Amino acid sequence: MTATQRPGLLSLDDALVRLLASATPPLDTEIIRVGDADGRVLAQNVVSALHVPPQDNSSMDGYAVRCSDLHIPGLALPVSQRIAAGSSGQTLQPGTIARIFTGAPVPPGADAIVMQEDCTVLPPVHGDTDGARVKVNTRPALGQFIRRAGEDVARGKTVLASGQRLGPAELGLAASIGMADLEVARSPRVALFSTGDELVMPGSVAPQDMPAGAIYNSNRFFLAALLRRLGCVVTDLGIVPDRRDATVQALRDAAQMHDVILTSGGVSVGEEDHIKPAVQTLGTLDLWQIAMKPGKPFAHGRIGAAHFLGLPGNPVSSFVTFLVLVRPFLLKLQGQSALAMKVIPARADFKWDRPDKRREFLRARYNPEGGLALFANQGSGVLTSAVWGDGLVDNPPGKAVEPGDTVRFILFSELLA
Ligand code: AMP
Ligand code: MG
Repeated sequence: MTATQRPGLLSLDDALVRLLASATPPLDTEIIRVGDADGRVLAQNVVSALHVPPQDNSSMDGYAVRCSDLHIPGLALPVSQRIAAGSSGQTLQPGTIARIFTGAPVPPGADAIVMQEDCTVLPPVHGDTDGARVKVNTRPALGQFIRRAGEDVARGKTVLASGQRLGPAELGLAASIGMADLEVARSPRVALFSTGDELVMPGSVAPQDMPAGAIYNSNRFFLAALLRRLGCVVTDLGIVPDRRDATVQALRDAAQMHDVILTSGGVSVGEEDHIKPAVQTLGTLDLWQIAMKPGKPFAHGRIGAAHFLGLPGNPVSSFVTFLVLVRPFLLKLQGQSALAMKVIPARADFKWDRPDKRREFLRARYNPEGGLALFANQGSGVLTSAVWGDGLVDNPPGKAVEPGDTVRFILFSELLA
């Protein structure tokens, strides 16, 4: 516990260690097409059975040459063959050059490519029978404009490792060594529901007809979208009323077919917060008070084989606790090895002179000068801040920030991928 932390509060780091320790057993695996594997976590090492590129090839349109034929610039030599991408040439005869195109294999004997801009095609001389002669206007360096066999991937190399999350570049690399299928962790099946009698689904009541005290359910939408981005299959169970029996029933049903039950709201300690007793009726639950802002209450437990994760109801609290706790949990369940958030140093172009005792995640965005500006209203219900921001300033407990200070910044683009 840090000196500034209130007793009874759990640090976020400690909460994360405990939560990740409970993310077992890892989900089983399945084999899917490379084209379907974006966002999934690899469950095999991918080893290349060939060199990429498979052979030396030209990186320019031009002429394949033997450097020893071209010790001075301006020599003219006959063109003995033509090699396009997809074909292969013959050994380059000394004293000749080969017309070659980008991606075409370099013929045996050639040791450099001269780009066509450095050559002049000579007009045919009367009596010529052997085709074009080309004047090479430079003295080529050995190996120039040749992409070497295996320079991207050498045969036998592990190009992707088990536990790595797949994105567009990873799929391309897997395809480049001939992989058609990949073994990945099965998608987590997640049941999602929101609690709160004040909640109304958009579309069910028009804005001008909203009863006093009602608000639209916003958490459902960003939570479902966040889950899907993490490769989860989501069952949306809608809104559960603030009643013990209804909450127990919803949890019992959800626990049947799902790996994870995720809820928002109802994890404070008010009389209308039924999550804790309801989960305890069916399984086990820890209710944590985490030293973070926004956020703080976070529930974690088990109902049968299903994991239970309960987020606070305030939208920004829900959003941020998902990103810092639920996201790594779901990736660990899928076997991902690297789970730390990527933090980048950034210059604060703002003043923050009323820091909280808890670790704060402040919504901020880059200004045109490359520093960070802070969203004016950092309230935990102000979802506008998350839309406006480029990410979160991770501010240590009790730390005031002066303009010019270096702060820790976590990009939403990193967290939402
Ligand atoms: P709770 O954690 O249930 O005490 O809720 C805290 C605050 O978040 C209350 O103001 C709720 O109205 C609000 N809230 C809870 N769930 C949602 C939701 N799904 N969408 C929008 N606001 C919510
Ligand atoms: Mg509530």
